Amino acid sequence: MLDRDHFSLVPSWPVSYSFLPPFVAGGSFPPRHLGPKMSESKALVLFSGGQDSTICLAWALTHYPVVETVGFDYGQRHAVELRCRPSILAALRDRFPHWAPRLHHDHCIDLQSLGQLSDSSLTKDLEIKLTTDNLPDTFVPGRNLIFFTFAAAVAYRRGINVLVGGMCETDYSGYPDCRDDAIKALQVCLNIGMAAKFRLETPLMWFNKGESWQMARNCGGDPLVELVRTETHSCYKGERLHLHPWGFGCAQCPACLLRAKGYESFLNHLDGVP
Ligand SMILES: [Zn+2]
Repeated sequence: MLDRDHFSLVPSWPVSYSFLPPFVAGGSFPPRHLGPKMSESKALVLFSGGQDSTICLAWALTHYPVVETVGFDYGQRHAVELRCRPSILAALRDRFPHWAPRLHHDHCIDLQSLGQLSDSSLTKDLEIKLTTDNLPDTFVPGRNLIFFTFAAAVAYRRGINVLVGGMCETDYSGYPDCRDDAIKALQVCLNIGMAAKFRLETPLMWFNKGESWQMARNCGGDPLVELVRTETHSCYKGERLHLHPWGFGCAQCPACLLRAKGYESFLNHLDGVP
């Protein structure tokens, strides 16, 4: 039986670390294990065409001189989000000319098999409701882990080591793969599995939706808030006929309700802010 008083993570007996890989034992990988030359000045943004990922893209454009984007087509019911991507990229280049030279390749990856595997209302024409696990049935299991892993594969090939995603633990819907610990664990896993030095950045992780709008304002002022309001898409039902104060949408699905609530909170806190 384990005697807890005498249990320690530091072994008391002599241990040879010679069996450990050199980077664990305090050495370093031989150069051939480092992979392609990676750059801290390049970022790859997971860009869906939604509100959060567009704000993350603007954030990346204020932090990195070279920014690429990647999107995933997994048969999502609100595929209109994907169709918004090119117009958002064009609007960013047009309305923020100082960002245009920084905004490079856009990648789109076909993940239809993910949609086929999932039985959620994001990919099937089902009513959005809570599952027995108290998760919205818009949950596609492990979706963000899969996205980041594919993005890492793209980044590896292109010598990019910063990956940016719009995951958020504050106003999230309960998706476990949005949690900070899940993202941090994935970063470790990707770096071990690809012998790389990726850094997974989630600038919205601790912001609520109102604060996310404020980040948009901080990055690009009122013109960026307007771009996010009118060009990005959140509605699970794909509704883009009615422009509300907070943007297009059905005003009834969970994504629209969250977006409207966040925008109202942003406006309330904006009073008196120049
Ligand atoms: Zn909606």
